[in-house]
Amino acid sequence: MNQRHFRDAKVTVNLNAIETNIKNLKSKMNQSIDVIAVVKADGYGHGAYEVANKALSSGATQLAVALLEEGVELREQGITAPILVMGWVGAEHAPIALKYDLTLTVFQKEWLDEFNQLDLEGRVGLHVKFDTGMGRLGIRTANELNAFLDSVDPEKVHITGLYTHFATADEDSLDYYNLQQERFLSMLEIVDQRFDTRPYTHVGNSAAGMRDIGHLYDGVRFGIGMYGLYPSNYLNEHRPFHLKPALSLTTALTHVKKMEPNEAISYGATYKTEKEEWIGTIPVGYADGIQRRFQGSHVLINGKRMEIVGRVCMDQCMVRLDQHYPLGTEVCLIGKQRNEEITMEEIANHLGTINYEVACLLTTRLPRYFI
Ligand code: PLP
Repeated sequence: MNQRHFRDAKVTVNLNAIETNIKNLKSKMNQSIDVIAVVKADGYGHGAYEVANKALSSGATQLAVALLEEGVELREQGITAPILVMGWVGAEHAPIALKYDLTLTVFQKEWLDEFNQLDLEGRVGLHVKFDTGMGRLGIRTANELNAFLDSVDPEKVHITGLYTHFATADEDSLDYYNLQQERFLSMLEIVDQRFDTRPYTHVGNSAAGMRDIGHLYDGVRFGIGMYGLYPSNYLNEHRPFHLKPALSLTTALTHVKKMEPNEAISYGATYKTEKEEWIGTIPVGYADGIQRRFQGSHVLINGKRMEIVGRVCMDQCMVRLDQHYPLGTEVCLIGKQRNEEITMEEIANHLGTINYEVACLLTTRLPRYFI
């Protein structure tokens, strides 16, 4: 017997939605701009390997991850497309990048100085990152850039890319976005004086790509939009184009009972029935990413909204039903059921966070099925 999952709870990822979202982005942007599929954090919780494969067969030409180990894992699974590691990786791990043909993000002269001491066979591919206003990683000044470039040993490294990251591309006002674009341009002027040809340049995230704003250069790093989710409430309202969400989360009723008025539900007895109520139990809880703060949010049963009542437990939670339902009735926590839908944005707003975080919350205890 090779069945590994016995609980009726699963994340379903519709890979056709990934394809549709990539094709829509490509048709919106200038045809010469590449799509770089961002599959860090296990593909925003969707499954990095499966999403990467689908993205590449749908027109993406490269992948981006956050961690070196994420890139190594994709290579070990057989992915051969270029992979950019966007996070900081210690120079001592450069041999791993070389071995697995992974491109590293660099921006510190000290990093190059340490790297130059290594005895490597072959050149490591690097993308130079500029901090034009995100305040996170990257070269900020002309002096830093010149000192960095002075430390480059062309026998040991190959600078194949240049990039920056926007902090506000998903907001109504584009003032700060434009300021970042201007700062990036002034860095490019220095680069252009020092290189015969400008390396591959990419600046945009989903928001910049979907809005097709400003200079997008050679590629757009398409993350949240590829998964069918809008980068902000502002873009969710203004929708530069239609996105198709890829992920749904479903489970089933494991217990149903009629409770008398004024009976308590779950830890702390925080919820008391007001009248006779049908209460259902579902086998997902905060160990699956359905945090305690989901209390008071809704699930779908029979295409109708039902409230999660009482505290969410580690592995289970309770739902107030509008009637009796048989055991095994499907319960949808994220996605569409009949004519109703619970979106990640709705959950994010309930939790006081963003859809990115909701997707990443869903733990690997929930099996992923790809359709
Ligand atoms: N580029 C970098 C450097 C990132 O950190 C991220 C995501 O956080 C992305 C691109 C993708 O952004 P989005 O998911 O908004 O498209």
